[in-house]
Amino acid sequence: MSAEHGSMKQPGTEDLDVECAASELEETLLEGNDAYMKQHAAVRLQLEKARQQHTDLPPEPRVGVYICRCGGNISDVVDVERVAAAASLIPGVVTAKVNTFCCSDPGQQTITSDILQENLDRVVVASCSPSLHEQTFRGAVSRANLNPYLYEQVNVREQGSWAHKHDPEGATLLAIRMIAAAVGKLRYSTPLDQIKLPNHRKALVIGGGIAGMKAAVDMAGRGIRVLLVETSERLGGRLNERGQVYPSEKMASEIVTELIQQVKSSDQIEVLLNSNVISVNGFIGNFRTVIEGPFGPAGVISKMDAPVGAIVMATGYRPYVPRDGEFLYRQDPCVLTTPEFIALSQSVQSTSKELVYQGRTIRSIAFLHCVGSRQLDGINEPQPDGSLNTYCSRVCCSTILQQALAVRQRFPQVHVYDFHRDIRTYGRGEEDYYINASKAGVVFFRRDRPKDDPFRDEAARGQVA
Ligand SMILES: Cc1cc2nc3c(=O)[nH]c(=O)nc-3n(C[C@H](O)[C@H](O)[C@H](O)COP(=O)(O)OP(=O)(O)OC[C@H]3O[C@@H](n4cnc5c(N)ncnc54)[C@H](O)[C@@H]3O)c2cc1C
Ligand code: SF4
Ligand code: SF4
Repeated sequence: MSAEHGSMKQPGTEDLDVECAASELEETLLEGNDAYMKQHAAVRLQLEKARQQHTDLPPEPRVGVYICRCGGNISDVVDVERVAAAASLIPGVVTAKVNTFCCSDPGQQTITSDILQENLDRVVVASCSPSLHEQTFRGAVSRANLNPYLYEQVNVREQGSWAHKHDPEGATLLAIRMIAAAVGKLRYSTPLDQIKLPNHRKALVIGGGIAGMKAAVDMAGRGIRVLLVETSERLGGRLNERGQVYPSEKMASEIVTELIQQVKSSDQIEVLLNSNVISVNGFIGNFRTVIEGPFGPAGVISKMDAPVGAIVMATGYRPYVPRDGEFLYRQDPCVLTTPEFIALSQSVQSTSKELVYQGRTIRSIAFLHCVGSRQLDGINEPQPDGSLNTYCSRVCCSTILQQALAVRQRFPQVHVYDFHRDIRTYGRGEEDYYINASKAGVVFFRRDRPKDDPFRDEAARGQVA
């Protein structure tokens, strides 16, 4: 569409013309190009003229946009004056102002007096996360008798200046885009009233591992009824596969048994094993769920409706399984994953003085961190679906350190090497495993440049196993 569009009039197309002109200008603003913005200010005039001619069109909103400097938190990166200039060209925007601290009393006062004096009927504040100040600004617009749901907050700090501090131009364009989107949304917003609806004081927990059981017990303790749905035939999840666990050094079975006891002794918790949630509808407070499981006579699979007010997803994780040949996995039997190594060491008699695997006495072990996690584009091979596991798994460093220390303590003659990118022990007290493993003679190597990783090449040549 172009500016010509306004002249292509056919009967009944006027409102379409206005919308097209508006969206064209919004697209231009998204491009953030000053020259374009000036050129297309003409479209805005055209738009206003069209509105004057067609009085049956809904009235143009009167939006106030406030861009916060947050001291310098935002304005040190984002060109807030340029953002205000761009925002002032968005159709419907009556005023666009920059303020040093929008959430301060004077900052809020500016908004409330503009609503009253400029007759604003929509407000956008471009500042920090709505979780911080949405209520503040909803309160401010309400004080000026504006419906609080005709207010939008866009987060140009956490998602803008903080996230893109090395890219001021990008952060500035992003702020313009976010404001344009918020104004666009407000064009279609209508005043809302708060209503109270009855809700189900019952929660559905999906997954009966340690996290699901703990959530169920905590909610039951607060008087909330819980439906705990586990797809397998027993509770406990992955902890059922573990032996001694950090940081308590308790047996995992002990922790699981204790928690199962609490679950079973609570008359607020109903456990459904071998079951699956097959559908979820509704909204917070009023979900309608359908669960399939052996509820029929003699365990026949059947379905049941379960209305709940909240749902906790605690479906856990699947350990990464390396591809065939990745670090010689499945090519050399001595290359194991951590869960496989844990299973091996659990299978060795507690009285045994040697770590024997496949008839061979193991004399040295190398633990390699981050395999399958923190993957890098262009270096790691993607999963079959094309994705990379870019996240840190958060549990493997502590697990490896615990295992490395345990090997040195049980089999002091075995040399233990640890190849890490960083050591990330997330939980309280878990750093001690690093200190204790160092003291126990575990030798640490940093492999901080996976691209030129000598370990990778050595492993590929079979010289490290
Ligand atoms: C090798 C290794 C060693 C570890 N060692 C330790 C340790 O020493 N200490 C420690 O604190 N942590 C350790 N961890 C981490 C620990 O295992 C996890 O933090 C913990 O098990 C997570 O519990 P969870 O309940 O979230 O998940 P899970 O244990 O995975 O449980 C999830 C449950 O949900 C069920 N489920 C899945 N999908 C569905 C579905 N659609 N419907 C219904 N049910 C479903 C599963 O069957 C399972 O029972 C280790 C992890 C690994 C990989
Ligand atoms: S509104 Fe948010 S971004 Fe603005 S000054 Fe307050 S905390 Fe900072
Ligand atoms: S840094 Fe540690 S916890 Fe994170 S993925 Fe790597 S090994 Fe796992």
